[in-house]
Amino acid sequence: MPSIDTNKPCDFTIFGVLGDLSRRKLIPSLYQLDRVALLHEDTRIIGVARHQLSQEDFVAKMRDSLETFVNDSLEPDVVERLLNRLHYVLINLDVPEEYSRLQEVIDQEQRVLVNYFSVAPFLFDDICKGLDYAAIVTPETRVVLEKPIGRDLETSQEINDTVARVFTEDQVYRIDHYLGKETVMNLLALRFANSIFTTNWDHNTIDHVQITVAEEVGIEGRWGYFDKSGQTRDMVQNHLMQILTLVAMEPPVNMHGDSIRNEKLKVLKALRPITIDNVDDKTVRGQYKAGFIKGKPVPGYLEEEDGNPSSATESFVAIRVDIDNWRWADVPFYLRTGKRLTTKRSEVVIYFKRLPHNIFKDSYKHLPQNKLVIRLQPDEGVEIVMMNKVPGIGKGIKLQKTLLDLSFSEAFSDVRIADAYERLILETMHGNQSLFIRRDEVERSWKWIDSIQDAWASSNEPPRSYPAGTWGPVASVALLARDGREWEE
Ligand code: NAP
Repeated sequence: MPSIDTNKPCDFTIFGVLGDLSRRKLIPSLYQLDRVALLHEDTRIIGVARHQLSQEDFVAKMRDSLETFVNDSLEPDVVERLLNRLHYVLINLDVPEEYSRLQEVIDQEQRVLVNYFSVAPFLFDDICKGLDYAAIVTPETRVVLEKPIGRDLETSQEINDTVARVFTEDQVYRIDHYLGKETVMNLLALRFANSIFTTNWDHNTIDHVQITVAEEVGIEGRWGYFDKSGQTRDMVQNHLMQILTLVAMEPPVNMHGDSIRNEKLKVLKALRPITIDNVDDKTVRGQYKAGFIKGKPVPGYLEEEDGNPSSATESFVAIRVDIDNWRWADVPFYLRTGKRLTTKRSEVVIYFKRLPHNIFKDSYKHLPQNKLVIRLQPDEGVEIVMMNKVPGIGKGIKLQKTLLDLSFSEAFSDVRIADAYERLILETMHGNQSLFIRRDEVERSWKWIDSIQDAWASSNEPPRSYPAGTWGPVASVALLARDGREWEE
């Protein structure tokens, strides 16, 4: 592996610079990094697209992106500084000869070349071939890949093989933007910087774990794209699996990329397979029908614009995951994600075991379980649900459930919470791979998901319907009720 100079300036090159992701997330994130002086003064931003644009037209488009998508009021001197870093290169990505134009602009003597593929994955092959044809790739060059990395194990291997023909694994940065979120990062701090948690993080004290990523929105004009993947491929294979591995992994020896990723991989390897034999007991698929969101009527999945009324794609999934290792024996992880649910909420809830004996029976018949709630969005923060005595004298001891609530926006009110893309872009520039997914992780995760998809395909059961604006099909409640548990709501 080449030694990495984290202070070197970059030629940060965005393929597909005029696309949605680039305009909405990447360019605004680069602005925020520049604002807080995290971009090296000699770093440049090179935009690649296939349109005939003058440098002035390109700069005007990027200025418009900043004005449209940066939430805070823009600082004029930062805007000018950022716009001065921009260079436009016209390349039809499927024409290898055109990559020599990029070769003429970049300067790998002085700068690290970071190639951000902000395009659909079917173009990765063309870009790799083009970069290779123009002899642009050196051992220092990096490549950033957007999701989805395939739709199953086979297609993810194809994409990874394509990229591996030109880049070694230590040059590849696969994005899962959840790994750039402040609260997901905080999971590591919570687990490995607090002895109360490090010593209470296994089957001895934890009863079960719930991971919810609930969306209020529906398909938002992406029916064609979404219907080919469904909620399991779109959300579980990447975001929920990444959160699960961070909650469940063993302590890494340090924060280096491979130390963390080795531990995450071990969790993925320990996932009990879900097959045709147990799929009905372990999973629930759902599809929303018409309902109400915040009092307003919304159409069902099949009636959405461009919808195919016979689609059996799931917009909701709940899964009981068992991890077959020492730490998590008999501690289920329940995953749940869906569209058009009651509210937008992402959280991890750790339920601690019930106490063996209740000495407060007279005033509180069933002592509730302690809970640690890690709120990923909205209102990022951490909550502990615990029992306290109600102050006062009189007959008996009165107990009450109370919250220890650490809201990030209140506790760190003078600190701006950075967007996930800001952190991830910065890490690609610094050459730190710990927040990016390694090839073996992606493929292992697909292998596990493929087995579920195959089981659903064989069972031929359509998804269960649920009204928009609810928490999913009733069967999802039953999934936990069978184990004597219920969802956090
Ligand atoms: P997009 O809006 O379609 O942008 C892709 C860009 O690629 C377009 O500007 C398109 O240019 C360009 N392109 C296509 N074929 C080309 C060619 N042969 N030569 C040169 N340029 C070409 O897509 P996106 O939403 O930005 O998504 C990009 C990637 O990020 C996808 O893999 C997506 O899954 C992933 N992603 C996106 C988001 C998001 O919020 N948008 C979130 C997560 C992941 P034209 O305008 O000329 O067609």
